[in-house]
Amino acid sequence: MALKTPICSFDAKTGVLCGRCEERLRSNDLTTDEVHASLTLTKLTQRHPEVDKFSLVTAFKVEDDFVLVLRGSDLLVIRSHVDIRANIEAIFNTRVWFVESESSERRFIENLLYPGRVLSVNLMWLPDGKKLTRVILETTKISNSKNDVPKIQRIAKKIKDIELLVEYKK
Ligand SMILES: [Zn+2]
Repeated sequence: MALKTPICSFDAKTGVLCGRCEERLRSNDLTTDEVHASLTLTKLTQRHPEVDKFSLVTAFKVEDDFVLVLRGSDLLVIRSHVDIRANIEAIFNTRVWFVESESSERRFIENLLYPGRVLSVNLMWLPDGKKLTRVILETTKISNSKNDVPKIQRIAKKIKDIELLVEYKK
């Protein structure tokens, strides 16, 4: 089974988009972020046969970072193979975030905050009707994620329109 991406597998291998994918790009059925992520990830399939089994569902560039949306089983592989994760970031030449497709809002937040441990997720409504998603994180992992929180908030806002509020267990 070969790596699945938003573009044709032939295009991913040759690095050139076929007429159909070009047309999808023009009609916004495909994004340049998806094309870039597809071509970049494909380059790793030779070195890591595990990556050749992944399914890249979509990808987003947020500021300079990349967010890859993959299957849950792909995330498990990435989390258990430090070298694969490091090589993905090296080949994308930026920080890469991994989230699983078809998951709940809570799961999406947990993926972004990983390896921080999410204790609870609650919705809050402000007087002006704005919705906030309040997350309580386990304090022991504080050092892993605290500096990333502003960036994670911007990623959540851009991809899922979630206003994230991160707090720590006291
Ligand atoms: Zn194509």
